[in-house]
Amino acid sequence: MRIYVDFDDCLCETAKALADITARLFGKVIPYEDIRFFDLRESFGLTEEEYKELMIEAHRPEILFSFEEIPGAVKALNDWMDLGNEVFIITGRPLTSAEVSRRWLDEHGLKRARMYFLDKYGRNLNDKDNELNLEPEDFYKMHFDYAVEDSPIAFKFFEHLPDMKVMVFDRPWNRDCTFPGGNYSRCTEWGKIRDRLMAGCKK
Ligand SMILES: [Mg+2]
Repeated sequence: MRIYVDFDDCLCETAKALADITARLFGKVIPYEDIRFFDLRESFGLTEEEYKELMIEAHRPEILFSFEEIPGAVKALNDWMDLGNEVFIITGRPLTSAEVSRRWLDEHGLKRARMYFLDKYGRNLNDKDNELNLEPEDFYKMHFDYAVEDSPIAFKFFEHLPDMKVMVFDRPWNRDCTFPGGNYSRCTEWGKIRDRLMAGCKK
């Protein structure tokens, strides 16, 4: 079986790191539970210039590399791969972060996971010829049995897989969203995702 796993705020604590950077750069302290919007300009109350500065700082390799693993993610995925299943990290990060993102996966024990860059948020920054770039039409040819995603903006990429079990990683910015179908469920921690994946293997 195959699982789609989003990178930021599913594998690592990105929003918390960005909130820390925002406090450091601009003196704006945003409690985690107040990050109600996926668009950080809105959640953090940033001007366009501040947002650009935040993104430049956050994408520095040493900063991206420092994002903390969400407890249990690596173990769950490795246990699942040990049973012969496949993991695809499908991230909306820009391709410029490919090297450090790969290094993060490798050094956190996810060497076996494949990684692709899909322009989930319409940023149009990626080199279409890069082998790690995934064009939507190529993504739509792929099949997954499970998905772990935190961003409601990305749900539109799952419309072609109505039977895929989508586990929405619980975050303040997705608590008000409506799930598009009965195949969606909310997950609060990787231990429960792991249990679900392992139970699916036994069928
Ligand atoms: Mg994410």
